Amino acid sequence: MTASGIVTNIQRFSTEDGPGIRTTVFLKGCPLRCLWCQNIESVEATPRVVWYAVKCIADKSCIQACPEDALELTASGMKIDRNKCTACGKCETACPTNAIRLLGRAWPSDALVEELLKDRVFFETSGGGVTFSGGEPTSQAEFVVELASRLKKEGVHVAIETSGYCGKKVMERIISSVDLVLYDLKVMNPDKHLEFTGVRLDKVLANARLLASKTVPFWVRTPVIPQHTDSEENVRAIARYVYKNMPRVERYELLAFNSLCVDKYTLLGLDYPLRGLEPISRETMEHLAHVAAEEGLTNVVWSGMTRKP
Ligand code: SF4
Ligand code: SF4
Repeated sequence: MTASGIVTNIQRFSTEDGPGIRTTVFLKGCPLRCLWCQNIESVEATPRVVWYAVKCIADKSCIQACPEDALELTASGMKIDRNKCTACGKCETACPTNAIRLLGRAWPSDALVEELLKDRVFFETSGGGVTFSGGEPTSQAEFVVELASRLKKEGVHVAIETSGYCGKKVMERIISSVDLVLYDLKVMNPDKHLEFTGVRLDKVLANARLLASKTVPFWVRTPVIPQHTDSEENVRAIARYVYKNMPRVERYELLAFNSLCVDKYTLLGLDYPLRGLEPISRETMEHLAHVAAEEGLTNVVWSGMTRKP
């Protein structure tokens, strides 16, 4: 029997999730609650129907298509009875304007591998491949392991982006299944880590050392969030830790924050905790890259949106 998993999105032609041109698979479910989460639609583990008022032309095709009678268009908007909804996706298919969408869809591994192999030519010509992201992809570890094994048999390079927050056995399974690990280290102060991400730092560091003790290539990445992770002290502490404990690191990336995700929070009826935060300056990114290099890291790069001076 093949595994199946819940996928929020398949993003093609990605250039920031590993080497070459990549197809990134966003898996649903994450144990962290980072204040700056850019993929909030992937945090909840189960699929969810959402409705965009501005796109709706009120023709009620979705309501006619719903086999569970879970939808009702009222004067105050679309009412979605989540107890009745079985996440079948028929409303999304029926809607002529993409006003109703199912976030998260079950994919059998056979079908997903077939879908991903459609991009093989781009992988081969660019040195790219497939990256599993999320959410936190280790929360669907068996699915990832099966997909990685099948893709590697087809000669496709496989990477995973992870927060490192999972059990040791899960991390070992993942490490031995992929070609590259993109490992996040966000905050080195344990209290702030707990406050900003909702989980403990020690588990993340234990898995970082585990990763370093194996042979799989890995990059370390830090999201640079103004007033949260952007201090020289924080980046210096991360770089120092990596230099000392993870000497096989191939690349250290600093990723500048942006707040383009704010509409996703609105759509899900959630408050965006960092509303109003300005993008970081180019000078700060360059300075932090310099700080990481001062601590001994050699392949330091930064990317992302910066504010105009
Ligand atoms: S099918 Fe789409 S456009 Fe029509 S009522 Fe439903 S959500 Fe609105
Ligand atoms: S996903 Fe299926 S059950 Fe849920 S609202 Fe849409 S059509 Fe109805």
